[in-house]
Amino acid sequence: MTDPFPVERNIVCVDCGGTCHLLTYLDDETPPAPGDVLAYRCEDCLDRWDVVVPDEAGGDTDLDPLSR
Ligand SMILES: [Zn+2]
Repeated sequence: MTDPFPVERNIVCVDCGGTCHLLTYLDDETPPAPGDVLAYRCEDCLDRWDVVVPDEAGGDTDLDPLSR
């Protein structure tokens, strides 16, 4: 089964190499959008990491046609 979320629930702490757990609640009905900030807490050093959800395309951002 595919994970419906484009983000990681756990990331590796760049400080101590421990596991950081997602603090932000993810709802199946409202997956995080690009630009949303997800907070993680390291279980080892208790550092908090804020990660911005990347654009799904991974680069190019088309202009919203409604905003022209
Ligand atoms: Zn850590």
